[in-house]
Amino acid sequence: MTELRELNPGGRILMGPGPSDVHPRVLRAMSVPLVGHLDPDFLKIMDETQELLRHVFQTQNRLAIPVSGTGSAGMEACLVNLIEPGDAVVIGVNGVFGERMCDVASRCGAQVSRAEAEWGRVIEPEAFQKAMAGKKAKLVATVHAETSTGAHQPLPDVARLAHEAGALFVVDMVTSLGGAEVQVDAWGIDAAYSGTQKCLSCPPGLAPVTFGPRAVEALKARKTKVQSWYLDLTMVEKYWGPDRTYHHTAPITMNYALREALRLVREEGLEARWARHQLNHRALAAGLDALGIRFWSQEGHRLPMLNAVVIPPGVDDLKVRKALLNDYHIEIGGGLGAGKGKVWRIGLMGESSCRHHVLYFLNALETILAAEKVKFERGAAAAEAAAVYALAIRSARSDPRYA
Ligand SMILES: *Cc1c(COP(=O)(O)O)cnc(C)c1O
Repeated sequence: MTELRELNPGGRILMGPGPSDVHPRVLRAMSVPLVGHLDPDFLKIMDETQELLRHVFQTQNRLAIPVSGTGSAGMEACLVNLIEPGDAVVIGVNGVFGERMCDVASRCGAQVSRAEAEWGRVIEPEAFQKAMAGKKAKLVATVHAETSTGAHQPLPDVARLAHEAGALFVVDMVTSLGGAEVQVDAWGIDAAYSGTQKCLSCPPGLAPVTFGPRAVEALKARKTKVQSWYLDLTMVEKYWGPDRTYHHTAPITMNYALREALRLVREEGLEARWARHQLNHRALAAGLDALGIRFWSQEGHRLPMLNAVVIPPGVDDLKVRKALLNDYHIEIGGGLGAGKGKVWRIGLMGESSCRHHVLYFLNALETILAAEKVKFERGAAAAEAAAVYALAIRSARSDPRYA
């Protein structure tokens, strides 16, 4: 075998649909020595992590734990634990991740009804109402931040409709958690899941999951065993709860990382973090507008951390993304599903949501598009973005809290 060099990837600016840039403190936490998964020091870390998860989810739920696996494991954990074969479920579908939920739910033996919207648009409450009519659904599930389209789904009205019909309300918060307002308790969400590598800015590998009292009740009332041994929360919970019973070995290092990432979230403050994501989104949008680039996602319902924009006519998708990566070390995402070849997905998630990324990216994109003979006023993109920042700085200075 030829000699292998020491591993040294990187130097990338992660502005795709995840993973996002990771804070050096999180990387440092991943390099500290291992302890056993039942070590008293680790048990303390587990308790602290659960407390931090309750904070970021904005919930008093007892069950708030990081499930081993990526965001999809969180999706599967929610659905396998709450669905029994034959159950009627309603799922919101306006992109790839709603489709994935339908796939998982049907593998659980559910009768799936879809509440749909065109990709890029949010799903209207009426669509859920129609899909629920005459079904006696056990649960209604939807995606809060549809990463494939950039649509930001409003939740409280759907929660109310689900509860009126006696159904549980389950939400995918993989991309929204830590980047946009999330209120598990105030919005009436019975179960939610997320992933570590989007706005929490951790490497991929854990899926925060929370179950409220109604979901725990439904889990206890099951007539059949949970289909998945690994994701059976009745057993996983015995390890994370006071029993501390071994189920599977917790990924120790990933849990160190998540604890540090959540500590960073708490230091920044949830509202400040949501506002930072919003500001960088507005600056990016102003810059893209100056380049003549239009959003794909519905106006008024755009995600701050995932900007899905239409590729300008005549521009070669792959060529631009390759130039961004090779010449500027910037990764952005291509389109998924219905957006393939049609849209770019520009992520501003967690640590990646910062003004130097926005300004650097706009300059890089402008240079590349100018070489592609796209017409726009040179220099306007960064200037428009900078104007958004300048205004924000001025209004922060006149805010008495900063005096
Ligand atoms: C990324 C993502 C997932 C899947 O997470 P993985 O970590 O890739 O398994 C699920 N739902 C949404 C909305 C996502 O953005």
